Amino acid sequence: MSQPESNKPDKNGNFFNKNPLITFAIFSVAMIVLFKAFVGDESDLAGKINGQNVTRVQEITYADLKRLIENKEVEKVSIGQTMIRAIGNDGTGKVAYTTRIVGPDSTLIPLLDKQKINYNGFSETNWFTEMFGWLFPFLIIIAIWMFFAGRMQKSMGGGILGMGNSKKLVNSEKPKTKFDDVAGVQEAKEEVLEIVDFLRYPDRYVELGAKIPKGVLLVGSPGTGKTLLAKAVAGEAEVPFFSVSGSSFIEMFVGVGAARVRDLFEQAKKDAPSIIFIDEIDAIGKSRAAGGVMGGNDEREQTLNQLLAEMDGFGTDTPIIILAATNRPEILDPALLRPGRFDRQVLVDKPDFQGRIDILNVHVKGVKTDADIDIDEIARLTAGLAGADLANIINEAALLAGRKSQKTVRQADLREAVERAIAGLSKKSRRIDEKEKKIVAYHESGHALLAETTKGAKKVSKVSIVPRGLAALGYTLNTPEENKYLMQRHELIAEIDVLLGGRAAEEVFIGEISTGAANDLERTTDILKAMVQMYGMSDVAGLMVLERQRSSFLGGGMSQAKEYSERMSEEMDQFIKSSLNDRYAAVKERLEEYRDAIEKIVELLYAKENISGDQVREIIEAYEKENGIETKLEPRKVLGSPKPEATISE
Ligand code: ADP
Ligand code: ZN
Repeated sequence: MSQPESNKPDKNGNFFNKNPLITFAIFSVAMIVLFKAFVGDESDLAGKINGQNVTRVQEITYADLKRLIENKEVEKVSIGQTMIRAIGNDGTGKVAYTTRIVGPDSTLIPLLDKQKINYNGFSETNWFTEMFGWLFPFLIIIAIWMFFAGRMQKSMGGGILGMGNSKKLVNSEKPKTKFDDVAGVQEAKEEVLEIVDFLRYPDRYVELGAKIPKGVLLVGSPGTGKTLLAKAVAGEAEVPFFSVSGSSFIEMFVGVGAARVRDLFEQAKKDAPSIIFIDEIDAIGKSRAAGGVMGGNDEREQTLNQLLAEMDGFGTDTPIIILAATNRPEILDPALLRPGRFDRQVLVDKPDFQGRIDILNVHVKGVKTDADIDIDEIARLTAGLAGADLANIINEAALLAGRKSQKTVRQADLREAVERAIAGLSKKSRRIDEKEKKIVAYHESGHALLAETTKGAKKVSKVSIVPRGLAALGYTLNTPEENKYLMQRHELIAEIDVLLGGRAAEEVFIGEISTGAANDLERTTDILKAMVQMYGMSDVAGLMVLERQRSSFLGGGMSQAKEYSERMSEEMDQFIKSSLNDRYAAVKERLEEYRDAIEKIVELLYAKENISGDQVREIIEAYEKENGIETKLEPRKVLGSPKPEATISE
């Protein structure tokens, strides 16, 4: 969503890059002038013609010319393909008569012979006009090609004539953006806060011997405000902001991207402390293992290598911080994520309900509105949308109001703008409607309740019904309280219960199941299969191993050769199926037992869209007290959440 940035022609930019049409127009004028100079026209004949000094040129008719010949009033005639010139004398000096040839005239030559007038032929074209005739079509084709290539390149941030000249590709500015302009991404803001401090007072850190981080990866869907956040960091720290887009590196010519990276870092170092922002870093940082697309693998690899070299090239005492944005961190080359490079990730999530209110308020400030507009309603209508979508909605509403010649934006305009925005949205940035939101809220609450009330389950740190990426409409983040290398049997069963909680909640509370549990079911099946095949945790196979350990824990996939009997296989299937049924029944029972607690969690989740594990626990605790149920909540061992090993139930 930060595309327009790269389109701005830089002041250093080559003029000819800006508009190939202008280039072409100038070129054409030059050609015509040149053409004129070389060829001239008939009125330019005054001067020397056929070695004779002529004082004037006169155009006459063909009949007149013949009369002149008959009267022997001309002394020399030159015949071209379309023109005849004759030199005569009118008493004041020599005159060049010119006329157009009229048809094939077989009497002219005999007449000249008869009158004994000297004649010759001449060529009306010369080497230049001949060549021009040949070249002109090519020139047109080249001009057209330049026009389109220029347009194509411009959209990538460069111009065909300016390749290798990275100066206009690197946008440099001192943004005025502040953290207040970025709303709804509180956690991300807190995480980048220290970067501002590094940039503002680098000496403090350097003197202490602290290593200033180099690269931070901003991860989030398009339009969630990654560029905005990066600019705000520069704005708050009051340092220059150099930005490029990863896709602009992928040029037609190998080596250009690498040169650009070199230039980018050179400029940033000159102005340090500074921020380098690389948008769409996945365009260059795609894992080398993943096959190349058009544009050439070579080019991307060279660019990536140059980037890595540059990042390693300056010390941790140079206050340059490289922020990079991506939507797909999982496809990035692992080399990029190594310590000393982009070793920090900051999640820039889509906003929840309150977040949307905050973002809408930031943008509403810029337009004149009715006093009684209801931002809450608009936030409620836009679940699932990103910040950029919300900014668009406000602008669209202002346009609508303008079209109706209103003085202010009314609530009705905002509502209409929401409808328009949603109709125009791709699947990627979809709005969640009320019905789906309800299903997702029950589903996630089911996961959360089971996680909190099951012994040995990973505890809830966050429950969300803000869609993440393409697939997940909501998620529950479960974090173990200590780092674990072993899992006991009951812990595996607990994990199955938590995973089944989502679907069970849909069945118990909504009365109908949806497709939302596919991922959960896949994982429960994998766990049970591993219990039978690898961990000797079932009666089916006893201690017998049916499947060799693979590198991935509980990993799915097919084994190369089956090492057990058909009967064993059938029994295993039976075991998995009946275990799942047993667990599912138990999970449903638990949900029934905590019915009202679930309703409360759903209510809160539905309103806020993001809730914390503590909020879930509070509700459960209150419910247990009220109903005299012995608490199933386990005492918390650590506060805060260690990140590794967190699992996400979608
Ligand atoms: P990204 O880089 O994540 O694709 P941008 O930062 O380019 O998204 O966002 C585009 C525009 O959308 C911003 O310029 C801003 O107007 C608006 N926007 C996006 N996220 C936010 C936010 N969290 N707060 C305020 N405005 C936002
Ligand atoms: Zn689920």
